[in-house]
Amino acid sequence: MARKYKPVELPLRQVPAALATEEATCPNCNDRHAGVVGRMGLRLVFRCGRCLVRFHRIAPTSGLA
Ligand SMILES: [Zn+2]
Repeated sequence: MARKYKPVELPLRQVPAALATEEATCPNCNDRHAGVVGRMGLRLVFRCGRCLVRFHRIAPTSGLA
C-alpha cells in the first residue's frame, strides 16, 4: 500500500530505517497497523490508516539517542 501523506502539520523528523516499519495499535479505533510517519524527539509518531488519528509512542529502542 502506498504510504503518502502531506506533512502539513508539525515538522517531523525522519526515523531510522530500523524503526520505519514499526506498527502500533491505534488508540481510537484499535487498528493494529498504524504506521510510523516520523518522530518528535524520542517519540515515534504514528498515524492510523483507518481513522487518520495521529498519536505518539516512546521509541522501543535507544537508537534515536
Ligand atoms: Zn484508528
